[in-house]
Amino acid sequence: MRCPFCFADETRVIDSRLADDGDSVRRRRECEVCSERFTTFERAELRLPQVIKSDSRREPFSEEKLRSGMTRALEKRAVDAGAVEKAIGRIRHRLLAGGEREVRSRDIGEWVMEELKDLDAVAYVRFASVYRSFEDLDAFREEVQRLQSEPTAESRRKQLRLIPDRESGQDAGKDEPEPGTGGSGK
Ligand SMILES: [Zn+2]
Repeated sequence: MRCPFCFADETRVIDSRLADDGDSVRRRRECEVCSERFTTFERAELRLPQVIKSDSRREPFSEEKLRSGMTRALEKRAVDAGAVEKAIGRIRHRLLAGGEREVRSRDIGEWVMEELKDLDAVAYVRFASVYRSFEDLDAFREEVQRLQSEPTAESRRKQLRLIPDRESGQDAGKDEPEPGTGGSGK
């Protein structure tokens, strides 16, 4: 480590001990050229990286954005909230353990897809189909919000809510004659 006084390259450690209850190591060093002494601290760097968005802009990682993106994909799916939090925890851990200063938004999106694949197949398909075309968690969230704010989408969802939560429910809203109104009777 370089000496901060004379900038010589060679310094030596003359004392080393744990500090902050073991969260860091304090080292006393001495310059071999000017003999000045100084102290360094070594800590694990647990800092969440910046996220590089698809348009190359950077922003701090937001666990809230991650959660809201996943929650939207999981809307009306029977998935335990604790399992979702564990998945978010694993993604957070990957970000911390990677130690990178910057992570591409699309990489986080891939991790989300891996987690959703285990949690719920429908949520996975929802997320993947929308996200893959954006490759940006923000864009995904904004698009889903936009779709949901459209009144037709909202009323359609209300209709679907009355139907048992099965995938075949998708067709139920279509132009089938109501029972007893004299349909063709197929
Ligand atoms: Zn020195």
